[in-house]
Amino acid sequence: MAYDTDNVFARILRREIPAKTVYEDDHALAFHDINPQAPVHVLVIPKGAYVSMDDFSANASAEEIAALFRAVGHVARDVLGLAEAGYRILANCGPDGHQEVPHLHIHIFGGRRLGPMLAR
Ligand code: 5GP
Repeated sequence: MAYDTDNVFARILRREIPAKTVYEDDHALAFHDINPQAPVHVLVIPKGAYVSMDDFSANASAEEIAALFRAVGHVARDVLGLAEAGYRILANCGPDGHQEVPHLHIHIFGGRRLGPMLAR
């Protein structure tokens, strides 16, 4: 799947639409989800144009991959204060994964007991 440069997260990265940013560095941007599914729901995205976890894991540099996961941990720990109570990360990929926005994003959920991993 080719990268769609007009997807909503590409537009957030270009500052064409607003987002409630909580963290930014050279490789990653983190912002609140517009439709939170938990008391804390933040998305962390790479600044590079990667469609999905599949694209990112195959094509991103080691530096980009390390930076994204460092950013996820930093945001959860130091920005959101979730490390002690715990949190969940999630990356939906493709149609079966119910990925809606075609730019890789890592969800961080927290702020309450989140229950089992998948709906049963
Ligand atoms: P997915 O289903 O692709 O894993 O998750 C996409 C997420 O992006 C959803 O949780 C949705 O609420 C969020 N989202 C969609 N459009 C926007 C937007 O314009 N701004 C923000 N902050 N989040 C968005």
